[in-house]
Amino acid sequence: MQQVDRVLDKALQGERISLEDCIVLLESDEIEKMGRAADEIMRRRHPEPIVTFNIGRNINYTNVCDVYCRFCAFYRPPGSKEGYVLPDETILQKIQETVDVGGDEILMQGGVNPDLPFEYYLNILRKIKDRFPGITMHSFSPAEIQKMKVLSGLSLDETLRELHEAGLDSLPGGGGEILDDRTRRKISRLKGSWTDWMDTMKAAWRNGMNTTATMVYGFGESMEERALHMLRVREAQDECKELGYPSPGFLAFITWPFQPDNTNLKREKSKPEEYLKMVAINRIMLDNIPNMQASWVTMGPEIGKQSLSYGVNDFGSTMLEENVVSAAGTTHKVNIELILQYIREAGKIPAQRNTRYDILRVFHEGEHAERDFVMQN
Ligand code: SF4
Repeated sequence: MQQVDRVLDKALQGERISLEDCIVLLESDEIEKMGRAADEIMRRRHPEPIVTFNIGRNINYTNVCDVYCRFCAFYRPPGSKEGYVLPDETILQKIQETVDVGGDEILMQGGVNPDLPFEYYLNILRKIKDRFPGITMHSFSPAEIQKMKVLSGLSLDETLRELHEAGLDSLPGGGGEILDDRTRRKISRLKGSWTDWMDTMKAAWRNGMNTTATMVYGFGESMEERALHMLRVREAQDECKELGYPSPGFLAFITWPFQPDNTNLKREKSKPEEYLKMVAINRIMLDNIPNMQASWVTMGPEIGKQSLSYGVNDFGSTMLEENVVSAAGTTHKVNIELILQYIREAGKIPAQRNTRYDILRVFHEGEHAERDFVMQN
């Protein structure tokens, strides 16, 4: 029996695969086989042919950043004439537009801006919750939280507690990249270690928030480092349960390849088949994470659709304004109606969910969104 078959058999028997098993899969080209196994494992967890999506919006509230990641085409250094911080009213207006189309999630994410005091975040969260109590703030990645911790002089737990009290509900997994310090030192030396990222997630869980995890591959990392990334996420998720944190931990895992255009890091663009292989392996390895999200913002809707047969059960968010990714040369934009169309074309039933993955509305055949975002270029 081939090594790959042995590992897939093990996974299909419901046994956990090891770091070494994961490397066997990563080094194999048997994408179809892995896809079939991942699809089977996904169907056991999600037997209904439903693919969820969220109606939400990204708000890149500032592009000023002093982390200077080599792969980032979005940031401007402090003092740059092209740096911005969105006025509060503009942020509130964008949220109003989201609410107007039935959206419920805001992903505020920006550069790590050293000029914004901790009070800025508390104030904007309070203003948002005051005006839009039904909105879920799924905002600020670990690097931003770590900067807030430094600026506030508080501990990590205190920082997150204050943010939670002001209205922060959930943390996105941005900045996970590869959770191993050899790669992190090469691509984003100032962004903190992988343990800083993970400690932030655990502190969020301790304070009652749920989070997601991401993985960006294609920085020249080894297969062992990719496998380690997944193992570390899986172990942290186990810990969340074992220690009884008041949170379900990571609710979803999202992976995409590094986008090299307009960045200082020269790498070949990764192939779509590699993406399908990665999402399949994510599903097989991460047996304690319920949802795998398609990354149509980077891969385009066609590959997004295909990923729904490779272990993926969620089509992500409408996420208008994905400036960080689009600044690096990726400009796919879809609105609600297109998401419904793509999910149906893949033979599945679309359902709107909230940030906690509760289903809010199933779109039965022939049903459409009453209101929609206007497409932007
Ligand atoms: S990826 Fe984020 S942290 Fe890194 S330079 Fe860009 S905005 Fe800053």
